[in-house]
Amino acid sequence: MKQYIFGNWKQNGDRVLLEQMMTTLKTLPKQNDQVLAIFPPDVFLSTAQHLLQTSNTFKLGAQNLSAYADGAYTGEVSGHMLQEVGASFVLVGHSERRQLFAETDALVLAKFQQALAAQLIPVLCVGEDLQANEANQTLAVIEKQLTAIFANNQYEGQKFIIAYEPIWAIGTGKVATKEQAQQVHAWIRKFLSALLSEQRAQQIPLIYGGSVKAENAKNLLSMPDINGLLVGGASLDPESFQWIAL
Ligand code: PEP
Repeated sequence: MKQYIFGNWKQNGDRVLLEQMMTTLKTLPKQNDQVLAIFPPDVFLSTAQHLLQTSNTFKLGAQNLSAYADGAYTGEVSGHMLQEVGASFVLVGHSERRQLFAETDALVLAKFQQALAAQLIPVLCVGEDLQANEANQTLAVIEKQLTAIFANNQYEGQKFIIAYEPIWAIGTGKVATKEQAQQVHAWIRKFLSALLSEQRAQQIPLIYGGSVKAENAKNLLSMPDINGLLVGGASLDPESFQWIAL
């Protein structure tokens, strides 16, 4: 299994940062078993794609997509458009979308399916908030989020990634311990084995997100079911992101 290092810029960044990031990342040695991608705001994807033409080492992702195919949906951006400007991946169900933009499991499902239809690889984000964590409801919350996507569809032959992002760890500086994250990842893999098949579940990349920094990245990546990292804040600093990827 490859290792996935993804940088989610959220609503941050500009052209200058984009150029700095590309300049820094281009100095990294190419690792064939690693997939490195940044997820800038959509408006920078075209420029990023242009800058990337001189290097094939990095990929691009988007942070969101429309729940609909092209049509009369003012203000929305479809999966097919994102794909056209260079995105290979798209986040779906990020906790900020679920919490601040009222995205329900049904909407997340529609977006997941639109991503697949547009040949994008969806990165489905799941995770519990602090209250659920303290009430020992972590697995119940994740079970509901996964069931909404996988109960009625096996997505045979299609690629997707699952990101475990405990909300209490996002942007808070409180990272899950490698044991805590591994335990949840192992449970997710087991749950997917039952819903899909053991063999397919072994091939699904499970990545962790929540206050990942250069100092804790290697520790998390040392665990057997942590196949990569989704980095928020630290991906806005080219040097930090570079250290995480190294
Ligand atoms: C995120 O937004 O997906 C994230 C994990 O953020 P941070 O690394 O800043 O906690």
